[in-house]
Amino acid sequence: MSDIGGNRLQFRDPARAAAMAEMLERLVREIGRDPVSVMHVCGSHEQAIARFGLRAIFPRQLEVIMGPGCPVCVTDMPEVDEAVALAEDGVRIATYGDMLRVPGTARSLADAQAAGAKIDVVYSVAQAAQLAAKLDEELVFFASGFETTAVATAALILSGPPANLSILSAHKYIPPVMEIVAEMPQTRVEGFLAAGHAATITGCAIFERFVERHGIPVVVAGFEPLDILAGLGKLLELIRDRRAEVANMYPRCVRREGNLRAQEVLWKVFRTVGGRWRGIAHVPNGNLRLRDEWSHFDARRRFKIDVSRLWEFAPPSLAQSCICGDIMAGIASPSACTLFNKECVPDNPVGACMVSSEGTCRIWHQYGGQLDLRDS
Ligand code: SF4
Repeated sequence: MSDIGGNRLQFRDPARAAAMAEMLERLVREIGRDPVSVMHVCGSHEQAIARFGLRAIFPRQLEVIMGPGCPVCVTDMPEVDEAVALAEDGVRIATYGDMLRVPGTARSLADAQAAGAKIDVVYSVAQAAQLAAKLDEELVFFASGFETTAVATAALILSGPPANLSILSAHKYIPPVMEIVAEMPQTRVEGFLAAGHAATITGCAIFERFVERHGIPVVVAGFEPLDILAGLGKLLELIRDRRAEVANMYPRCVRREGNLRAQEVLWKVFRTVGGRWRGIAHVPNGNLRLRDEWSHFDARRRFKIDVSRLWEFAPPSLAQSCICGDIMAGIASPSACTLFNKECVPDNPVGACMVSSEGTCRIWHQYGGQLDLRDS
C-alpha cells in the first residue's frame, strides 16, 4: 500500500492480529507460568491497548502492566508547587493543558488560575516562545515530558529564544526509572516493552546495559495494534528461551544508535540529576535539568521560588488514599483504588493518573475501566 492511511491499516489488519493472538497463546503455553507479567513504560502503549481492545485478545495468562510511562503523572508535587508559587507571585506561566490540573501539595495551576494567576496553555515550547516574543513581561514555560519532548525544549534553547522566556524543567529521563522498577522487591516483571518514540531518540542500544544488569529482556515496539502484538510476541519468545536481550521490533523508526543529532542537542542543554518521581521513588539520574551554561534560561535561577507557604497545607484527605505510585510502579491496577470512578474521575481528579490522557486511571476510565473485555 502506498498511501499513509493504507499503511496504517496494514498495521491494524484483523486477520494478522488474530494470527498474532494465537501466537501469544502458544508462547504463554510454552512458558508454562500463570501469569507471565510484562510491563510497558509508555502511556501511548496503554492508550493503544485500550483503544483497540487488545486486552480482549491477550492470553488470560499474560499480564501486561503499565509502568511509569505518563510524564504528567510522574511530575512530583514539589515541581507543581514551584509552578504554582511562581504563578501566585504574579509570574506568567505557559504549560501543556494536562499540567493545569495536576495536584500540587496545596493547589494545582488550575486553582491558581481560578484565583487570578496568569496561565497560558500551549501545545509546544515553540508556541511558548512565540507567546513570549509578543509579551513585555517574563514568561516561564513549565516543561514536562520525557526525552522526546525534552529534545524540543533543548532545540529551542539552542535557537536563542526571547530573553523574557525561561524554563521550569520537570522533564524526566526514562531509562533510570526502569532500573528502579526492576529492583523493586514486589516487582513481578519478566520483560519490558519499551516505547518506540523515546527509542527513536535514544536508540535501542541504551537498554543493553540494563538487560545485562537485570537479566530481563527489553523489546522496543511501536504503537499500532500489530506493532504491540509483534512486540509482545518477541518479548514472550525471549522470556520462553531465557534470553536476556534487546530486540527492536520498530525498525521502521528506531535505529540501534538512535538519533545522534537529537541526542547531541538534548545533552548539550540538559544534564541528569536525581529526583523524585511522584509516588514512585527517588530516581537517580531520572530528572533533566538545564546545564549551568544555560542558567540564564533556568526559571529556578532567574526567580526566587518560595514553595514553603504551600507546604503548610496537609494534602487533602482523599489524596492520601490515592495509589498512583503503586499503579505506576506496576504493583496495582486502577480498579484496586477505592476512589476509582467514584470520588476520582477526569472532571474531578484526586490523583495525577486521572488527569493526563496518558494516565492509567484516565485511560481505564475512558475505555471502560475493565482489564479484560471478555469479563463484560
Ligand atoms: Fe489516584 Fe484517582 Fe487513580 Fe485512585 S483512581 S489511584 S485516586 S488517580
